[in-house]
Amino acid sequence: MSDLINEILKLKREKNAVILAHNYQIPEIQDIADFVGDSLGLSQQAASTNAELIVFCGVHFMAETASIIAPNKKVIIPDLDAGCSLAASITVEQLREWKKQFPDAVVVAYINTTAEIKAETDYCVTSSNAVKVVEAIPRDKKILFLPDRFLGQYVSSITGREMEIWKGACHVHEKIGDIDFAEVHAKHPNAEFLIHPECGCSTSCMMKSRQFPDATNIHIHSTEGMINFVKSSDKNEFVIATEVGILHRLKKINPEALILPLSENSVCEYMKMITIEKLCYALQNEKFEVRVPEELAAKARIPIERMLAIV
Ligand code: SF4
Repeated sequence: MSDLINEILKLKREKNAVILAHNYQIPEIQDIADFVGDSLGLSQQAASTNAELIVFCGVHFMAETASIIAPNKKVIIPDLDAGCSLAASITVEQLREWKKQFPDAVVVAYINTTAEIKAETDYCVTSSNAVKVVEAIPRDKKILFLPDRFLGQYVSSITGREMEIWKGACHVHEKIGDIDFAEVHAKHPNAEFLIHPECGCSTSCMMKSRQFPDATNIHIHSTEGMINFVKSSDKNEFVIATEVGILHRLKKINPEALILPLSENSVCEYMKMITIEKLCYALQNEKFEVRVPEELAAKARIPIERMLAIV
């Protein structure tokens, strides 16, 4: 393994490459990456880096988003089959049909969507800014919200806005929704519950947390908020409601604390498709490129820029 690691580090220097890894990547990939974060944060890193080659260790729509935001860089992903069930839950044809039914509606799409969907969208959102973006849309406008039904329900319940909500879901986090949150909450009365609002991934938990409106130990945090929370908290027990990959980063920050996943089964097999061997092959061969054609990228950039102008 150390030979592979050394080869990756050598190739990275020779090719002026940067390795970006999503929080849900396997520990070995996180440890060798230059930056670890959520999809939007990593895309912003892609735009600001001086590196010529961006190796995106995440899933396909994230590499596309990096290509949209950083059109002058070469973006590669070590496995083109690393998909996302949430992004796949709506096709561009389905969206066009839906828009025809509500021609005056504003389309709000979660960042977990393909470039084609973004190009047909008015505003992109992440889980942590969805409420703010929806609140910025005039109340007399109908909203079509896609693709994550849990995030849609959550935003609707917070803002009091009635919205048309697409019935999509992430297969990993849909299962978290089956967990008896109250039971786990009762079992760990002294733990802080951290619910990660990025990547489509814990939105079913965000809804469940609404069952405990007065609880002071349930927190909805973005990745950096979650990292900062564990860093600065004087508590030593945390239950994490999202994909288990994030635990690696949190345990590095506070090795003394007991950090448990809400469910050990919250594993995204697409995220785990990226291995050290595939990363090495990708760097050696500069494969597999993900490039969004400029005409499509220009359209897909608009809802992202609108979102960034609001938050
Ligand atoms: S955890 Fe779910 S939303 Fe996140 S990349 Fe995997 S399939 Fe997509």
